Amino acid sequence: MTAPSAPNAPLAALPGHPHLHRLDGQLFIEGCDLNDLAARHGTPLFVYSKAAMREALAAYQRGFAGRKAQICYAMKANSSLAILQFFAQEGCGFDIVSGGELARVQAAGGDLRKVIFSGVGKTRAEMRAALEADIACFNVESEAELTVLNEVSLSLGRRARVSLRVNPNVDAQTHPYISTGLKDNKFGIAHEEALAVYQRAAALPGLQVVGIDCHIGSQITEVAPYLEAMDRVLDLVDQIEAAGIALHHIDFGGGLGIDYNGDTPPAADQLWALLLAKLDARGHGQRQLMIEPGRSLVGNAGVCLTEVLYLKTGEQKNFCIVDAAMNDLPRPAMYQAFHGIVPLKEGSQEPSNPDDLTVYDVVGPVCESGDWLGRDRALQVAPGEVLAVLSAGAYCMSMASNYNTRGRAAEVLVDGDQARLIRRRESSADQLALESLL
Ligand SMILES: *Cc1c(COP(=O)(O)O)cnc(C)c1O
Repeated sequence: MTAPSAPNAPLAALPGHPHLHRLDGQLFIEGCDLNDLAARHGTPLFVYSKAAMREALAAYQRGFAGRKAQICYAMKANSSLAILQFFAQEGCGFDIVSGGELARVQAAGGDLRKVIFSGVGKTRAEMRAALEADIACFNVESEAELTVLNEVSLSLGRRARVSLRVNPNVDAQTHPYISTGLKDNKFGIAHEEALAVYQRAAALPGLQVVGIDCHIGSQITEVAPYLEAMDRVLDLVDQIEAAGIALHHIDFGGGLGIDYNGDTPPAADQLWALLLAKLDARGHGQRQLMIEPGRSLVGNAGVCLTEVLYLKTGEQKNFCIVDAAMNDLPRPAMYQAFHGIVPLKEGSQEPSNPDDLTVYDVVGPVCESGDWLGRDRALQVAPGEVLAVLSAGAYCMSMASNYNTRGRAAEVLVDGDQARLIRRRESSADQLALESLL
């Protein structure tokens, strides 16, 4: 498969990263020198900017000013406890997709009454835990799941609040692996079947219908799919309520994209100005709304620092071998995704003499040809220097694995000139702790 290959953007325009800047030849995130952080904590190291997260959230909050809206951070994007704690303190709820994520909300001090539980494969044990925690709502994805949730709920003497995830059959115009709103996806209940499934849900004694939900995909950079999905969902709302089933809230999911490589998604407040205008025009402006953004809240708040280990030049290709790999940053290997890669050292990306640049594939140490972080990047680097992989706040650490028995990276959260280690580097002992010999 071919990968997107584009030269690095000039440093003046670090895609989507307003909190990275040069000072005295060094690269800073807010008031912290990234070289210092790499030296203090080692690499690979994830570094997040609190101001960037706060600004990303503020764009949604501005968009919803004067409305009844609950922002539920889709925590699978980055579920580190301190990140969750930050969003909880800012008033967010959480969109969870497993019992493990529920435990994380509890550990981070999140408000359980603002938790919604999504996902096509909830187990009975996960349903029980979420019912006992008295979460706000289950987003149910199939008729079979309704039946099981009803049983579990009755066995606990409770009524589960439910919303059905409907599949509006719109094309989010994104990567096929992260598009979820088309008919042939495993997600949601088909538009045509939704009314019948709502009628069935309303008749089950262990359930209380409270809402409707849709989520059409991820890294969406166009407004049109959202407007189309909203129309389709509102058509259903009208039908379902005409059939006598009241819906307390409408959940429009997440999916808003970020700038990885010159992408131009709408700002969250601009997107919502358009969506709310449609909602008003269709007479639903006073509804309780929910959204489930993930990537757009954290993606461009983080970078991953990685040290250059070796340079390997060849006839066909040059390789820049770094100490971060596909187990730390799985998106390139999984989706052929692009991440900007910037040396921390001043001038090493735009040297005065362009002949000093060499085009490299930036690759990790893992024993897989799929283990690359960036292809065809023009860089001037030497072993021992540190690179920043950009847009690494979402779907990086939360997707990290121990493949090749590599310990997962450490994470630091920066707030002004303060840097706090929020996760220590995983040791070999940590990794071996769950296993036993014969
Ligand atoms: C992943 C997911 C989200 C968040 O998607 P982003 O693209 O990160 O905003 C929201 N809702 C559901 C159901 C999801 O699966």
